Amino acid sequence: MLYEINEKVIRLEKEGKKIIKFNLGDPDQQTPTEIINAAFEAMKKGKTKYASAAGEKELREVLAEIHGVPADNIVVTPGSKWAIFAVMYLLLEKGDNVIIPSPHWTAYDLAAKSLGAEVRLLKTSLETEWKVNPENLERLIDGKTKLIILNNPNNPTSKVMDEKVVSKIVETANRKGVKILSDEVYADISFIKTKSLLEYGGEHIIIKSFSKTFAMTGWRIGYAIADKQIADKIIKLNQITLTNVPVFIQDAALKALEYRQKIIQMIREDYWKRAEMACKMLSDTKLKFTKPEAPFYLFPKLEGLDSERFAFDLLDKGVAVAPGTSFGDYKEHFRIALTAPDDEVEVGLKIIAEAFR
Ligand code: PMP
Repeated sequence: MLYEINEKVIRLEKEGKKIIKFNLGDPDQQTPTEIINAAFEAMKKGKTKYASAAGEKELREVLAEIHGVPADNIVVTPGSKWAIFAVMYLLLEKGDNVIIPSPHWTAYDLAAKSLGAEVRLLKTSLETEWKVNPENLERLIDGKTKLIILNNPNNPTSKVMDEKVVSKIVETANRKGVKILSDEVYADISFIKTKSLLEYGGEHIIIKSFSKTFAMTGWRIGYAIADKQIADKIIKLNQITLTNVPVFIQDAALKALEYRQKIIQMIREDYWKRAEMACKMLSDTKLKFTKPEAPFYLFPKLEGLDSERFAFDLLDKGVAVAPGTSFGDYKEHFRIALTAPDDEVEVGLKIIAEAFR
């Protein structure tokens, strides 16, 4: 459905219509100039060759220091999406199953299914503040469960997981010998502290990205933090597929880390302001939603809403959103990505608010 909406957006734009795009999680901010310059300088220095499939030593070492792990446990990948797919490719066999709390980013279940794995969704709801029930999660585990995927903070709810809940899930996973893949691509810019799975113990896999934290979606750079055995397997998979993330992009990422605190603060502040504005503008409508605890999304609900029809109707008013069905069994919800310039965010939210008065 996301794809069909996007196709219609493209068609309408070709016809000259202005569309406010709240349908994709792609930040409107330009990548900071320091990062762009670092890539250019690296290219001029000849950093345009084949390189290590693990990632550049210097970048891995800086990341290792940030996360307090050995550099051998870090593998640089072209976006976190590849890291997620690589982990699934290495851990899952046909007939295995994966447990994913829902609503969820659809790439998880599409990737798992493409490898012949069964996806077991654990539904969470707005009414219980999107809390994952660890006992219900444990009930889904059987001898064929190879992976639990946690997305913290979550896309599309922007909810940070309760630390006690994560503790319980880690305890269960450790006891049952099941690995957890913790997708933490929104954690560095979250509005409230998001404790990394790294701090809970056990041999699990953490997925990070430069995309959201540094407005670098198109650069395609992320990384996995995993035990050496899995890290080495990802490196081998990189060797026979993509070879390496371009070194000039890794140099740019290194520069991003140098300015880390400043950029994170700036990005977080932008989205915090937009989230505040959205909550305020939608507060006197019929929509129900939880306050975002991280960028970029709101996932409001209206009882009885057919969000697919609503999304298409809204497009005719010049605003694109993603229907809730793109994230699981959530027909009454839709996702607003606050990834458009501030003035557009305000206009777009006004149009949405009008539709629900
Ligand atoms: N995880 C989540 C939860 C996402 O929303 C996205 C992008 N929308 C990704 C991973 C992938 O990000 P990237 O490949 O750009 O690092």
